Amino acid sequence: MGKIVGHHISGKEWLGSSARSQDIFDPGTGKISGKVLLGDASAVDLAVNSSLAAFEDWGFAPISKRARIMFAYRELLDKNITDVARIISSEHGKTIADAIGEVRRGIEVVEFACGIGQLQKAQYSEGVSRNVDTFSMRQPLGVVAGITPFNFPAMVPMWMFPVAIATGNAFVLKPSERDPSAAIFLAELFYEAGLPEGVLNVVQGDKEVVDAILDHKNIKAVSFVGSTPIASYIYERAASKKKRVQALGGAKNHMVVLPDADLDAAADAVVSAAFGSAGERCMAISVLVIVGDDVADELNSLIISRVESLRVGYGSDETTDMGPLISLEHKHKVVSFIDSAENEGAKILVDGRLHDCMSSNGFYLGPTLIDKVSTEMAVYKNEIFGPVLSVVRAHDSSEALQIVNSNPFANGAAIFTRSGVAARRFQSLVNAGMVGINVPIPVPVSYYSFGGSKDSLFGDTHIHGEEGVKFYTRGKVVTQRWADELIAGVDFGFPQN
Ligand code: NAD
Repeated sequence: MGKIVGHHISGKEWLGSSARSQDIFDPGTGKISGKVLLGDASAVDLAVNSSLAAFEDWGFAPISKRARIMFAYRELLDKNITDVARIISSEHGKTIADAIGEVRRGIEVVEFACGIGQLQKAQYSEGVSRNVDTFSMRQPLGVVAGITPFNFPAMVPMWMFPVAIATGNAFVLKPSERDPSAAIFLAELFYEAGLPEGVLNVVQGDKEVVDAILDHKNIKAVSFVGSTPIASYIYERAASKKKRVQALGGAKNHMVVLPDADLDAAADAVVSAAFGSAGERCMAISVLVIVGDDVADELNSLIISRVESLRVGYGSDETTDMGPLISLEHKHKVVSFIDSAENEGAKILVDGRLHDCMSSNGFYLGPTLIDKVSTEMAVYKNEIFGPVLSVVRAHDSSEALQIVNSNPFANGAAIFTRSGVAARRFQSLVNAGMVGINVPIPVPVSYYSFGGSKDSLFGDTHIHGEEGVKFYTRGKVVTQRWADELIAGVDFGFPQN
């Protein structure tokens, strides 16, 4: 029968009343390992009511109390990091080392949120007029929600709820139904750290729960991370219900290599960035734009030698470099993009469809390198989200930049070069939210903010860092007069200083 994964409401597991459930797979074996219970509108209502009740106290809890709980949570996460990673690997398929890396990045957001005393400070101006002072505050919104994707079942929720909760909000999390267990463990650890009942609630589910969140009158803001079509839907529906919303979508991250780059370093970087986590990262490099045919030939051969030695296998096997994809359906979709590239005239240099791993029942696909991809091909135009690296050849750096900027996605972009002048031009002109210079996956540290633009983000604020604090708080400005004589007589003129 396997495990049953339910919801987590008011500090404890709750199985709910909905009859619907969905299988959870072990992608490494292709077998069903359990079921997740899919909630409905009544489960969302229960979670929101629990959070609303919790917010009455939590919204006014002393900063020192909120900070202390964050510190305790940080310690517990650190102590349990391998257990969280094992849970992630068993449902997602990524290697344990990769899963530990994702939890570590999540912990960094908790560490950022430990400094809430500093982060939620506002401004004060004494004497804006005679006996009048003005000051601002940033107050929590109330109940806020997060809807997250399968590919980072711990890190992406942790981009959101530590900042939201440290600023005094209560949070309802809807994790991906494909790997739902990590979120429950994260919630359990938070309660062990002393979080008051109801400040974090987890509702499992699919579209039915998402729609109930988007429509719920007591949810003030929604953070979403996932694919672009769903991000667009979330943005429009949540905004139409007058909610604050940030919806991070899909990506097609380009890495430009100029002729003066250290090609060995570029090959190492792109192999890790394209095939790590089987390419199921929103910051994975999926397009390599190489300037110059000679450079392309040389770099391709350096990449091939590295790709051919990658070990594809079970995530918790220590020798594995690259695990399986999330589902059989997704594997078929990725294979269909490789087929289409071949049919459209691209050159398959390393063919993952022929890899030994394809005979396994797990959802494996070998790493694939495709040269001579044009920007008209389906493999270029779509987000693949698999271990497929496309090489687009460019004549010069201007054409390379133009290729990157013409793509509708704008999450990350990287350049490899030894020229500071070329790098500076790129950082200034490239249209992407996160830019790497000789760094292939430029995920910002937690005290900066994460996010792209164009089809990679709908909304005004990026996630975590100062923009995260801003997203989860509302500004208020107080103007006060304290004087011996408060009444100055009736005055119908517009207030002036
Ligand atoms: P997804 O869009 O399918 O699902 C994301 C969330 O939306 C899940 O919780 C899911 O239950 C919900 N959802 C799915 N279909 C829905 C529908 N029709 N109506 C309402 N809700 C729905 O994404 P995924 O496959 O889980 O994750 C992979 C995607 O996430 C990729 O496109 C990747 O680029 C993107 N991603 C982006 C970032 C970023 O920071 N920009 C980070 C991680 C992942």
